[in-house]
Amino acid sequence: MQHIIDRFIGYVTVDTESDPESNTTPSTAKQWDLANKLVEELKQIGLSDVSIDDKSYVMATLPSNLDYEVPTIGFVSHFDTTPDFTGKDVKPQIVKNYDGGDIVLNKELNIVLSPSYFKDLLLYKGQTLITTDGTTLLGADDKAGITEIMTAMEYLVQNPQIKHGTLKVCFTPDEEIGRGADHFDVEKFGADWAYTMDGSQIGELEYENFNAAGVKIRFKGKSVHPGYAKGKMINSMLLANKFISKLPKDETPETTKNYEGFFHVTNIQGSIEDTLVQLIIRDHNRNKFEKRKEYVEEVVAKINKKYQKQFGEDIAILEIKDQYYNMRDKVAPVMHIVKLAEQAMKELNIKPLIKPIRGGTDGSRLSFMGLPCPNIFAGGHNFHGKYEYVPVESMQKAVEVIVKIAELNAIQNKK
Ligand SMILES: [Zn+2]
Repeated sequence: MQHIIDRFIGYVTVDTESDPESNTTPSTAKQWDLANKLVEELKQIGLSDVSIDDKSYVMATLPSNLDYEVPTIGFVSHFDTTPDFTGKDVKPQIVKNYDGGDIVLNKELNIVLSPSYFKDLLLYKGQTLITTDGTTLLGADDKAGITEIMTAMEYLVQNPQIKHGTLKVCFTPDEEIGRGADHFDVEKFGADWAYTMDGSQIGELEYENFNAAGVKIRFKGKSVHPGYAKGKMINSMLLANKFISKLPKDETPETTKNYEGFFHVTNIQGSIEDTLVQLIIRDHNRNKFEKRKEYVEEVVAKINKKYQKQFGEDIAILEIKDQYYNMRDKVAPVMHIVKLAEQAMKELNIKPLIKPIRGGTDGSRLSFMGLPCPNIFAGGHNFHGKYEYVPVESMQKAVEVIVKIAELNAIQNKK
C-alpha cells in the first residue's frame, strides 16, 4: 500500500494547474515538470517506445507477451489540475483506518471534511484516505488515474506470467480546460480503443457524457455622470443581469441530476461600459443541447433589438463554441469495450456503476477522433476543491481493473 501512496504523493505535490487564458500547449509551463518525471518513470519501470512530444503528451507501450494477435488497448489520464482551485503546495494528509467521523483538514482555518455533508465518506470506513490540508485541491483528478496506470504497468512488467496483448499508455496536459485531446495523436497511439482512468467512485464506468458548449457574451454600455444620466446611461452590468435573469432557475448545476441539462454562469466581470458574462451549456441529449444554444441566441437577440435604436449597434456580442459531444454515439457500435470493463470489475467483486457523466472527459473527444474511449473510476471524490479525497483501496482496485482488462482481452481473443 505504501508504494501506491508514495507514487500518488509524488505526483500531487507537483503543481500542474492549467490555465484557460493561455494559448500554449501545455497551457502552463509547470506541467512539463510532471510530464518529464512521468517519462523517466515509464522508462524506469521498463516500458517501450516511451516518448514525449513538443506539446508534452507522454506515450509508452507495454509489448504483448502473447503468441497470437489481440486488440491493442490504451489507458489514458491527464496530469493537469483544474484552475478552479489552487493546486500549489499540496500537502496531502493520510487518514489510516478511517473511523467514519469528521476529518479535521485544517484546525486553524476550521475546515472539516464531514460525512454529515459528504455522505460518500461512509463507504470507506476502515480504509486509508488521502485528503488535503484544506488549503488546496488534492489533484486525485487525475493523478489517481496516472498512479493507477503506472502501477498496473509496473505490475504487468514484474509479473510476466500474466498474459496480455499490446497495451498503450498516454498522459495528457490540459484536460481540465477542455483541451486534453487537442493534440492527441490517435494514429501514433495505435490503440483499437482506450479507457480514461478519470472517474470518481469505485465501480464507475461511463460511456455517456454531456454535449458541451462555452458561451461568452460581451455587453457594452454608455457611461454618463449618474446625476444627469436619465435616458442616456446604459449600464452593461444591468444588461448582463437581465440576461442572467432569463436563464431558467431550475436548470442550473445545483438543481439538476442524471440526464438533466443546465446553463451555468461561470464568470462575470463588469464595469458600466463593458461586462463580460461567461457560461457553459450542458446536455446529454443533442437536440436539447442545440435548443439551449438557440435559447441563448434568442435572449441576446432580444436585448440587441431593444437597444438597437438607443445604442446604434449591437449592444451584446455573443460567442458560442461547442466544446465536446456525447461519446455514446461512438461507443454504442462497439459496446463490447464497455462489457469488457464491466466483466473485469465483476470478476474483482466491484459493483459496476454505469451512469451518464455529468461532464466530459478526454475520452469523449477522443471517441470522436476515432479512439472509442469509455471512462473508468479513478477513485477520488469531491474533485476541484479543498474537500477532495481519495481512498487508497479504490486506487488499488483500479490497478486491478486495468490488469484484469488486459488479461480478459487476451483470454477472450485466444485463437
Ligand atoms: Zn479529470
